[in-house]
Amino acid sequence: MTEPTPKPSPPRLPKTAGPKRATTPKPRAKRKARRRPPNPALAWARRLARYRPRLLEDTLDRLGELYGRPVWERRLDPTSELVLTILTQNSADINAEKAFVALRAAYPSGLAPEHHRPGIGWGGEGLPAGAPPDWAAVEEAPLAELIDVIRPGGLGPQKAPRIQATLRKIREERGDHSLEFLGEMEPLAARDWLTSIPGIGKKTASVLLLFCFNQPLMPVDRHVERVAKRIGLLPAKAPPDLAHDQFIAMLAGTPDKTYETHVLLIHHGRVICQARSPKHDLCPIRDRCRFVDPKAP
Ligand code: SF4
Repeated sequence: MTEPTPKPSPPRLPKTAGPKRATTPKPRAKRKARRRPPNPALAWARRLARYRPRLLEDTLDRLGELYGRPVWERRLDPTSELVLTILTQNSADINAEKAFVALRAAYPSGLAPEHHRPGIGWGGEGLPAGAPPDWAAVEEAPLAELIDVIRPGGLGPQKAPRIQATLRKIREERGDHSLEFLGEMEPLAARDWLTSIPGIGKKTASVLLLFCFNQPLMPVDRHVERVAKRIGLLPAKAPPDLAHDQFIAMLAGTPDKTYETHVLLIHHGRVICQARSPKHDLCPIRDRCRFVDPKAP
């Protein structure tokens, strides 16, 4: 038997590309319009105006009736105001006054005396009349000596280097220690300039700019923060940094009321709405305060 011869396999055909298909362009997906992230300070001010109308106005009217409407008046030159404010950081105003008086005595400038008019928001007695210290001498003083001079104010070892670094930065940038130029600047730009100095936050910068130039920047210290959060002018968990801007947004329509707002709230926090035992019965804002009534209008 002979073996069957295998069938030849069909020749392979070369692959052809074939006719090109016309491709229809895909419609481009519409770009979503990017929404700007909401400004949290502005958003809060709008929400408050919508759900609790006239809360800030009522608060100011009632506190103004009780304590009188404070009128802005410059109380010190800006460099003195800045150093005095540094001295008040974590210290009672009355002790900061003692340290400032000691600075004047240790580094006399011979300039014209200033008259400190602290007004009702200040927790000390007011400085006696006196010339501002010689800031160049304060900047160049041996650190140990300066710590000793400001010791009556408390926290001398922390504050003395901060004061010297602040004075140094001002002189290096401006040629002298004067801060009068800040009065010519746009308020937020002036605040930025000050907060670029290490150890100067929004609160200290706003104190200087409000008290020396009546710029509409609200310093939120512990009294202002406590009273405002209790009433509901600030959200309960507002971080201090944001609280400053929330007040700016709330006062955007009436920036000239910033001084009055600060002074009335701080004074109320000192005399009636104290941290430990607030005197609700004496308080003119009671019916609008969320601390005593969580559903207050
Ligand atoms: S009612 Fe009481 S908690 Fe509210 S603001 Fe007045 S004192 Fe403060």
